[in-house]
Amino acid sequence: MNVMELFRLDGKVAIVTGGSRGLGFWMAEALAEAGANVVLCARKLEPCEEAARAIREIGVRSLAVGCDVTDPDAVKTLVEKAVSEFGRVDILINNAGFIWEEPPEKVSLETWNKTLAINATGTFLCSQEAGKQMIKQGWGKIINIASISGLASVDPELSNTVPYSAAKGAIVALTRDLARKWCQYNITVNAIAPGYFGTKMSKYLAEHRQPQLMSSIRMKRLGTKDEIKGVAVFLASAAANYITGQILAVDGGTVM
Ligand code: NDP
Repeated sequence: MNVMELFRLDGKVAIVTGGSRGLGFWMAEALAEAGANVVLCARKLEPCEEAARAIREIGVRSLAVGCDVTDPDAVKTLVEKAVSEFGRVDILINNAGFIWEEPPEKVSLETWNKTLAINATGTFLCSQEAGKQMIKQGWGKIINIASISGLASVDPELSNTVPYSAAKGAIVALTRDLARKWCQYNITVNAIAPGYFGTKMSKYLAEHRQPQLMSSIRMKRLGTKDEIKGVAVFLASAAANYITGQILAVDGGTVM
């Protein structure tokens, strides 16, 4: 196959959780530009609908679904809606995430549970539900959005987010083991571990901890939209058919 064709996603169907803004929207846009129809979900429906309108302008079909990834019934409905609208689910990007900053000795059980629920449990529930459909199809690509916080410790002067690190570490382990279990169904499961990108989630660090941030990033700058788009398309495409269980850090040399 021609190498550029290996990266095309024409006619594929993707679900991107947390697709209403930030990294999720950028990756959804990338999949759409490569030809995929995209289902976006987030808790707030209106921003999701606005994002879906922008995706449709690229020339593919797009559906917005209000869904909290911690709610098993809502996740089931999300996958059902994707299948009833588009007939299949080829790609799932588990991107919805939540971070809370507080010294670990002060973190409440509620904060711990919420952080694990949105990042780790949400990733599992969506993978499980989309996975059932992918098993039927005998083909699928799951891309989990972890973080470099799940790969290495973080200087407390930069950020104090132990529950988030634990949740992202869980996503790393889930990625590897689920990949192994689902090789038999021709489903690949990989993760992207982003470093620091300029979104709502990282705004506080970028505005208030610039020196600490820049001292941790070897490339001395935040990641940009174009630096995550191609990675998402690659892992979703036939170019990555022989890659599974891998965690790809996209972090300007922060963890190496
Ligand atoms: P944002 O906060 O900008 O966007 C988060 C998205 O997730 C929104 O669409 C939000 O919509 C959605 N979301 C949050 N909670 C839920 C939920 N329970 N169910 C469904 N959707 C939900 O984050 P980023 O774009 O910065 O981050 C995206 C992912 O990348 C996250 O997993 C994050 O941990 C990871 N990441 C980001 C980095 C960065 O530098 N920005 C670095 C490393 C990792 P709504 O509120 O309407 O639900």
